[in-house]
Order: sequence, then structure tokens, then C-alpha cells
Amino acid sequence: MLAKAVTAMLEERQAHFLIPASIVANVQEDNHLDHAFMVLTKVRYAKIPVLDNEQRFKGLISLAMITDKMMGLNGIDPGHLGSMVVKDVMETDVPTITLPYDMEKILHLLVDQPFLVVVDQHQTFTGIVTRREVMKCVNYIAHDLERQYMVTPLPAQQDDKK
Ligand code: AMP
Repeated sequence: MLAKAVTAMLEERQAHFLIPASIVANVQEDNHLDHAFMVLTKVRYAKIPVLDNEQRFKGLISLAMITDKMMGLNGIDPGHLGSMVVKDVMETDVPTITLPYDMEKILHLLVDQPFLVVVDQHQTFTGIVTRREVMKCVNYIAHDLERQYMVTPLPAQQDDKK
């Protein structure tokens, strides 16, 4: 369980966590891989969300997943990209989060993921929470905790340090 003071300070800032769907680069699951390759190259993000035509979240796709399909016996061959679609190669085993945020879950998941996908109860894509935005908040807590809360070591902790 997270410390109450930390939870309170995270929640105070949680409105800043979401990058809304409207400004998150994405591709559709039926887009051809050559299109996804161009989008990923243009936006310069390592991985982006994949949606269906009703804006529901389906998976993630990265440049590495596409370039893997370009590797042939004689080197790189982009020829196949026009005949495969995003859903053939995307990653689907992806954790998602919902609002209101479960901060403990978010902190756990962000250890391994650079960003988390936010969906509503119908799996509609709401946006992303990036490790970067949460780290800004952790930085704020590390600096401000003792300005807002009295933090004193428990006797057992003091003994441990002797
Ligand atoms: P950042 O913490 O800003 O470097 O973002 C971490 C990751 O989140 C990026 O590498 C992308 O995979 C994803 N990401 C962040 N912002 C966007 C965006 N506007 N559109 C698509 N993906 C994004």
C-alpha cells in the first residue's frame, strides 16, 4: 500500500498525467505496415497505440515489430510491408488502466512500460499516461513532502541506523 501522504500528493497532480487521445499518434489495426512504418518514422516515437475504426484500443506497434518483418535472407526487403496489416504484427498483451486512477497499479506498471494506455469501460481509447509525467510528480513529491507533512523516523528505524 502506498503511504497516505504520497497518495494524496500524487492525486493532487493526477490531472496532469493524461495525454489525451486527440494528441496521441496512432494507427488503425487494418492499416498496411508501410503506412504504420511511415507514421512511426514521422512521429519519432518508439511505440504507438493501435485502434479499431470505433476508436477502441487494440494493441501497440513499434518500428522494431515492423523492421523484423522486413528482414529477409538477403538483407532488408520492405516489399512485404504493403501486403501485411498492423494487426498481423502488433503486441496485444498490453496492460491498460482506467479512470479514476489506481496510483499503486500505475507506479508498478511504469517500472516496465514507458507509457500506459488509458481506456474507458468500453475499451475506447482515452489517452496515455507517460512515465515522464509521473516522474515529474515523483520529483515534486521528493522535494515537497516535508513542506506539507511532518515526517519523523520511527524509533525502530533510528535503531537500525546506529
Ligand atoms: P515520453 O515519456 O514523452 O518520452 O513518452 C514515452 C513514450 O510514450 C514514447 O516513446 C511514445 O511511445 C509514447 N508517447 C508519448 N507521447 C506520445 C504521443 N503524443 N503520441 C504517441 N505516443 C506517445
